[in-house]
Amino acid sequence: MSDEGYEMQYVQEAFDTNWIAPLGHNVNMFEKELADKVGARAAAALSSGTAAIHLALKAAGVGEGDIVFCPSLTFSATANPIIYQNATPVFIDSDEKTWNMCPDALEKAFDKYPNVKAVIVVHLYGLSADMDPIVEQCKRRDVAIIEDAAESLGTYYKGKHTGTIGDYGVFSFNGNKIITTSGGGMLVSHNEEKIAKVRFWATQSRDPARHYQHSELGYNYRMSNVLAGIGRGQLKILDQRVQKKKYIFERYKRELEGIEGIEFMPDHSWNEPNYWLSSILLKGKVRPIEIMEALEHENIESRPLWKPMHLQPYFRECDFIGIGAAEDLYHNGVCLPSDTKMTDDDLSQVITIIKRLCSRG
Ligand SMILES: *Cc1c(COP(=O)(O)O)cnc(C)c1O
Repeated sequence: MSDEGYEMQYVQEAFDTNWIAPLGHNVNMFEKELADKVGARAAAALSSGTAAIHLALKAAGVGEGDIVFCPSLTFSATANPIIYQNATPVFIDSDEKTWNMCPDALEKAFDKYPNVKAVIVVHLYGLSADMDPIVEQCKRRDVAIIEDAAESLGTYYKGKHTGTIGDYGVFSFNGNKIITTSGGGMLVSHNEEKIAKVRFWATQSRDPARHYQHSELGYNYRMSNVLAGIGRGQLKILDQRVQKKKYIFERYKRELEGIEGIEFMPDHSWNEPNYWLSSILLKGKVRPIEIMEALEHENIESRPLWKPMHLQPYFRECDFIGIGAAEDLYHNGVCLPSDTKMTDDDLSQVITIIKRLCSRG
């Protein structure tokens, strides 16, 4: 069978067995296969990564009025579920050495908000955060860690898969992620009881009774059996995707690294990234917008880094702890085209455009 042909087999199986529902063989197997792949004890397949963050917060006991620390430099889906729980986000600055949560800013946040309920750590663009100091700080204070690994399936930190280092880990299978089910998410944990509870909440909190009885608030957050079939097929080609993403990154790096003003996303011996998006910082005369516009002119899509949450109109009342590193990353960063379907010629075209811009002098 071709490398990308597994999805139809599992989807067909879902039809053949009449399990076109948010339960069934593919859902159970996708949970097991993903948990095995990342080295987690248990997993719950959900309708999105956002739903997984929401139920992780609930499982961590986050409720009305609680404080939750969250990186400022991330996608809004990391922060929104804090609001769903009527809790309050406090945004934490980035560390320019990792592009992820800054342990020093986190320490300052703990001093200011000692009764914080949970900490969300994000592994952006497939780079892992430096987890050791963060885990140490959270353990010392007995505060739960939720890892938003939506962008980092296939990324390892000191040999451990991202998402399995804290108390809860979140993955996303949205259309733009390294593998996709068109939409979906997974919550993993070493705590099997918590995962069982998450499955219960995600299926409308139906008590084990024939007569539709509910003792708790429920959600319709379960992944469908058809989509789980696609996920099983996609998971089989994850390693191949990471290989291709790495190839793309290395090509960009080889060709662009020497150019004045261009800095590549950070590289650490403890980080084995999935290279989801190859990203650079522009520290010279050429600005990100010029590169994005020059690429757009050739119909090639590139993006800025995420706009920090503390700069978002919706979150303007929220506190931010830091010195502006997230903002600097945002102002200087570009995510280069990194689709695994890119050919060598496609890559050459992007590289030529960037070189041409940067040599204008
Ligand atoms: C994609 C993404 C999410 C949300 O995942 P969905 O499956 O789209 O809900 C959360 N956090 C980050 C950092 C993401 O990139």
